Amino acid sequence: MTELMYTEHPDLFKLSAQVTQHGSDAKGMYLVLNQSLFYPQGGGQPADQGKIIAANACYEVFDVRNVDGEVRHYITCNNTPIHPVDAVTIKIDKERRVLNSKYHTAGHLIAAVVEKENPELKAIKGHQFPREAYVEFGSTVSDADNFMAQINSRVSKCIASKATVRTEELNADDTAIIAQDLPYELPKNKSLRVCHIEGFSPVPCGGTHVNTLEDISSFAIKKCKSKKGKTRIYYEVE
Ligand SMILES: [Zn+2]
Repeated sequence: MTELMYTEHPDLFKLSAQVTQHGSDAKGMYLVLNQSLFYPQGGGQPADQGKIIAANACYEVFDVRNVDGEVRHYITCNNTPIHPVDAVTIKIDKERRVLNSKYHTAGHLIAAVVEKENPELKAIKGHQFPREAYVEFGSTVSDADNFMAQINSRVSKCIASKATVRTEELNADDTAIIAQDLPYELPKNKSLRVCHIEGFSPVPCGGTHVNTLEDISSFAIKKCKSKKGKTRIYYEVE
């Protein structure tokens, strides 16, 4: 089992680790580590990239996935033999992680702002890949252009407010309370990792976030499509 260190240490970009296993599948060669800083793609957020540096080799990590509970770090093949229990240094691409965290947090914020003011609109999907990011809601709005302008203005104000963004573990009772407002089921009687933007309700999340909303700095809604029972807000950050 790989210990996912980014959950407790989101601002750490370099770490020592050990290779516990290696192999290959349809995506390519991969390494499994005892602990990792790499975020595996999921929840709408892209994987981290970076390097795994061993005594005799440096592996470029181009993708990371959680496959049935095993975190696979996919590496470009450089024909250097890999030894289990090799001590390695992990270095993640900081710029990519920071940008992904901004996109991911902005997705939370759009969902929170829309849901707070429009209880009939529930966020049902998020996609936070740079330049194609959107949040999707499970119903339509009558005037998409006007709606987009309103949400753009409110989200921008929130970003300027410097509100804090925290991840925390909710106990089972508090989890049951937030579950009442979600359009999907949560596991019963379990604690849960949530993202909590100051001023809004916490939401379940395993992703990476900025520390305060002002870290998002530049934000703009690019497009709003509302049809066939759904509304999508496309956005960009820098
Ligand atoms: Zn999140």
